[in-house]
Amino acid sequence: MNSILDNKYPYLTNFFNTAISQNRLFHSLILYGSNNYIQYALAMELARQLNCHEEKQENCNCQNCRWIRENKHPAIMTISKIDNKTDSSKTVISEEQVNSVLDTLVNSSDFHRVFIFCNADIKKLSAAEMKDYEEYKSTGFSLPQDISDDKIWYPSGINTNCFSTVAANSMLKSIEEPPSNVTFIFLTNNKDDLLQTIVSRSQAFYVPDKRIEEYNIDFFKKYFNNYPMFNKANALDFASDLLLYQSENNLESEYIINCIQFYLKELAKTNIQNQILVKKIFKDIEKTENSKKMLRSYIKEQTVYEDLAFYFAN
Ligand SMILES: [Zn+2]
Repeated sequence: MNSILDNKYPYLTNFFNTAISQNRLFHSLILYGSNNYIQYALAMELARQLNCHEEKQENCNCQNCRWIRENKHPAIMTISKIDNKTDSSKTVISEEQVNSVLDTLVNSSDFHRVFIFCNADIKKLSAAEMKDYEEYKSTGFSLPQDISDDKIWYPSGINTNCFSTVAANSMLKSIEEPPSNVTFIFLTNNKDDLLQTIVSRSQAFYVPDKRIEEYNIDFFKKYFNNYPMFNKANALDFASDLLLYQSENNLESEYIINCIQFYLKELAKTNIQNQILVKKIFKDIEKTENSKKMLRSYIKEQTVYEDLAFYFAN
């Protein structure tokens, strides 16, 4: 496969290599975990392995491999709220969009068609995301949209907010009885974020996040220095301070929550003897996971931060 993926995920690439060579790869796959970019890279690499008629080497120069590397292959489609749109919806993969994808399956194809379902945004990357992005890009890999140096098309996990039950349901028949040489790949953070009927018809693979994110936690110390006590009077300030800090430093809200999580995890490590405190910390980390879910559901950042502040203050 690709040497970076082989090094990072040998058990996964071995599994896929064998499954492809024995022609027994499932036609519906779920890749889950918190690094959706590497899932996307893996999905594209699978598409390449399924379509290469040469030796499938990393630097293969056959037309299929070249097209896939350039992300311009006619049979490899990324389906997201901003890719391969057929209607004017901007926040979801719509039912209409799914149906137009499925309509293309009526015609047979010489290629092995791969449909990658994910969420995606054009955004500024964090340092760890950028490192990951550049490392994989160096192998000639391209994303579906070329934007600019500081704003990049970046995948995220699909969930029921951006991929409605109705849209997902319209795929069930195709997933159950797919035409030959078609593979659907769903990228998600958590299997629970996908419709159960899709999960039960798919083969799911956990893709661990191997990035080492650098979190700057200095900013958060003053709020948490009496942890688990949290000043009620400061709760509203906390929310507005976070918003200000985020905009002044051009950060993503999810990064802010990750910093808080990182802070809490470090706190747990240094208090490992104090089981009651550690239990409280894990409960609070769970709450921050919920904050991320709220953000992904397009709930206003201010509301999410306030909710978190009042939670800590209580
Ligand atoms: Zn090739």
